[in-house]
Amino acid sequence: MQKRDYYEILGLRKDASEQEIKSAYRKLAIQHHPDKNAGDKEAEEKFKEGAEAYSVLSNPDQRARYDRFGHAGVSSSAGGFQGFDPDIFSDFSDILGDFFGFGDIIGGSRRQSKQPRRGADLRYDLEIGFTEAVAGVKTKIKIPRQETCTSCQGTGADPKEGLSTCTACQGQGSVRYQQGFFTIRRTCSTCQGTGQLIRKACPQCRGQGQVRKEKVLEIKIPAGVDQGSRLRIMGEGEAGPKGGPSGDLYVVLSVEEHPFFQRQDNNIYCEIPISFSQAALGGETTVPTLEKPQKIKIPAGTQSDTVFRLKGRGIVSLNGYGKGDQLVRVKVATPKKLTKEQKELFKQLAAISGDAEESSSLFEKVKEILT
Ligand SMILES: [Zn+2]
Ligand SMILES: [Zn+2]
Repeated sequence: MQKRDYYEILGLRKDASEQEIKSAYRKLAIQHHPDKNAGDKEAEEKFKEGAEAYSVLSNPDQRARYDRFGHAGVSSSAGGFQGFDPDIFSDFSDILGDFFGFGDIIGGSRRQSKQPRRGADLRYDLEIGFTEAVAGVKTKIKIPRQETCTSCQGTGADPKEGLSTCTACQGQGSVRYQQGFFTIRRTCSTCQGTGQLIRKACPQCRGQGQVRKEKVLEIKIPAGVDQGSRLRIMGEGEAGPKGGPSGDLYVVLSVEEHPFFQRQDNNIYCEIPISFSQAALGGETTVPTLEKPQKIKIPAGTQSDTVFRLKGRGIVSLNGYGKGDQLVRVKVATPKKLTKEQKELFKQLAAISGDAEESSSLFEKVKEILT
């Protein structure tokens, strides 16, 4: 029988990329897979043909030889394709994934059935104070979680009665059977791939292998964390089934607001009032910082909403390098109540600086616009 062109089999052009070859083959393999076409000889032939074409075209050396010499370049005498190369199945499982349980095909490199599964990750929401976020804190948290049963080590079997070897798979954890033209290995359904059967359930966990416990953990929250920061604590999630590795614990932080400071990234912001005379004449005032209070100079003629920057008075960066600043916005406070003497002095001040005239002419202007 005349052999068909490999590119033609997969419906590809000669310059197809590796990815195109893969996806063309995947499509074809799924379409003609023996699982879906039981007893269909033609589908089986197409499936075989596709596998052969793929095995050559997916290998750059073989592909080059095939491109130059055609089928002769990759025939068995030239050290090329020969019947079913079992190595192809490791590729198979990559391409088809768990679509048809291909991960378990004999000759494939993956044999996951006996590997215990990993436990689930957990999330814990924790609220901390503003200053704790700034300085870091050690705290204890209680997490309810599944832990491996210590009585049976997660097997679920009574420790005295123990386990017996699975009779369905002879302890292999998987069974082989013939399907179409090749042998498939599937996870044993009797023992779920463990290779062992429980004679009597562990009384501690009722055969579950796990018990629910409340674990108290001490965690260290680093300085500089912020709202929404996530800490990953490896291996503190739920225990894996059948003694498998534990998942991770994620602590998600929310940070309380501070009555005086606001935070943006690593900078902190605050507002302080200064008096009229401080603003006009200049002077000094004391500002609270995250550490001790600090004096700042107010230059003469400072306007309300002027921002002063205190370098390095912000929050330490979470990665340990550098620190933010503190930004201080001054608000010129207008006195609400004046003594008789103060009132007199303000009047004098107003008279000298011509405030009264200035504002009356402004008032006239506004009237003009409005009428
Ligand atoms: Zn147990
Ligand atoms: Zn079994």
